[in-house]
Amino acid sequence: MELFWHRRDLRAADNVGLATAADRGEVAGVFVFDDDVLAHASDVRVRRLLDGLAALRDDYRDRGSDLVVARGDPETVLPELADALDADRVVWNRDYSGVARERDAEVRKALNEAGIEREAHHDAVLHTPDSIRTNAGDPYSVYTYYWRKWTDRQTDPPAPTPEETDLADANALAAAVGADDGALADGGAAIDRVTVGDLPAPADLGFAEPDADVGPAGTAAARERLDDFLSEAVFGYDAERDYPAREATSRMSAFLKYGEIGVREAYEATKEAMAVAEERAGESGDGDGTDDDEGPVAAVEEFQQQLAWREFYTQVLYHNPEVVSENYKEYEEGIEWRDDPEEIAAWKRGETGYPIVDAGMRQLREEAFMHNRVRMIVASFLTKDLLADWRHGYDHFRERLADHDTANDNGGWQWAASTGTDAQPYFRIFNPMTQGERYDPDAEYITEYVPELRGVDADLIHEWNELSPTQRANAAPEYPSPIVDHSERREDALAMYKRARGEDPDE
Ligand SMILES: Cc1cc2nc3c(=O)[nH]c(=O)nc-3n(C[C@H](O)[C@H](O)[C@H](O)COP(=O)(O)OP(=O)(O)OC[C@H]3O[C@@H](n4cnc5c(N)ncnc54)[C@H](O)[C@@H]3O)c2cc1C
Repeated sequence: MELFWHRRDLRAADNVGLATAADRGEVAGVFVFDDDVLAHASDVRVRRLLDGLAALRDDYRDRGSDLVVARGDPETVLPELADALDADRVVWNRDYSGVARERDAEVRKALNEAGIEREAHHDAVLHTPDSIRTNAGDPYSVYTYYWRKWTDRQTDPPAPTPEETDLADANALAAAVGADDGALADGGAAIDRVTVGDLPAPADLGFAEPDADVGPAGTAAARERLDDFLSEAVFGYDAERDYPAREATSRMSAFLKYGEIGVREAYEATKEAMAVAEERAGESGDGDGTDDDEGPVAAVEEFQQQLAWREFYTQVLYHNPEVVSENYKEYEEGIEWRDDPEEIAAWKRGETGYPIVDAGMRQLREEAFMHNRVRMIVASFLTKDLLADWRHGYDHFRERLADHDTANDNGGWQWAASTGTDAQPYFRIFNPMTQGERYDPDAEYITEYVPELRGVDADLIHEWNELSPTQRANAAPEYPSPIVDHSERREDALAMYKRARGEDPDE
């Protein structure tokens, strides 16, 4: 018997490590609640994790097996579990983030000392963070060049789903783990708690039930959503993706973050969509001497590009683990952030008086999600209108997003703050009013999340910062006036970045 240690890969299908172990013989799936990891979690993410684990457990149950669930330090839990279940090898998929790599090194050492074999597989991204490099052998810091190599590389097919006969029998697991006289009945010496298929409640882990609805979880839900998206919406993805009211994106981020769908499976599905797109382009004449930047083929490629952004940021974090807390791009003189606590608090509450910003922050609170265009707008607003350090925004997103992923979240924040790899130049500062007008012209998204503005004419909403106090009071008395003046703050931000670059802010 072998143990497969699930971490950010809560699925049985297209799971490289699990498939490899199952190919050799009997395997049992294990999840370990690690207090060191939980220390960085949040109510939203614990809820989302538990939902994903319940779906994984049910998938095992459908195949006559179950999920072994333990709590403790993996470095001591895994050797003890392997011993109790008579497993001679522990298998997992690599997690490329810095903290996980350190933990995995400790687990490797502990298993070696216990004389238990271990094996780590590449699974989380299509191409390992080491495999795509510049001709000089360096990791890429410019996305476009990275993408060209990424898209040209051969990809592996999805890994096979284990057969029922390859999975440890649920009754046998229960007997070994849960029996009254079983070695682990009260938890082994190192294990606080171990069960077969019995998941804790958030409160057992020290978390509260979140107010936000974290959305569906699990492989079946991920497949349903991806199928749905790739059957039609993807063909208009490039034209529609920036409009938050149109719901034109895949909403795959949390599924990918928790590994409820494999990247090989997801990418394979995009290739099938590409074949359909090529057929459609042929029929409509697109791709047949017409503009290559438009049409269904370009739309599907645009979606594939987003999957590549995810891998780009994974390799940025892998090669630069310090970016979690430090600027990727250091400014000579350092950036002197203003960090006004009241302004930051108003941003978090969605009460800045900038409608698109407030709608985004409230979507985050209600759905533990925010549309990508709006993430860019609110991040630009925090850093370049409120002149607040991106780390305040990153911490808030980390707490509130169900799809929080260290690499992507950090990449997004450092992009917006002009401190990251291939970031927005410091002098590009979004105007939150024109962004709202362009991407939510009828204020549908805004009024969905900002009820105070319902019934107000979209034109008034898009010129909220220019209205007089009386006009604002007449139109929407409950909605705040802008907390800052965008034009003034734009100048302040330019001066702040110029000083950081060692330049004269007045030039
Ligand atoms: C400030 C900021 C913070 C962000 N934080 C996160 C985060 O914590 N987790 C996260 O997954 N994404 C993050 N993103 C990227 C992006 O906003 C989300 O991935 C996207 O909105 C999720 O919606 P979707 O699944 O419908 O995306 P789609 O547009 O359908 O994209 C498909 C998939 O591609 C990946 N992807 C898309 N855009 C990006 C991107 N810019 N960078 C990296 N991967 C991308 C995601 O896995 C996404 O699910 C952040 C962006 C910004 C600007």
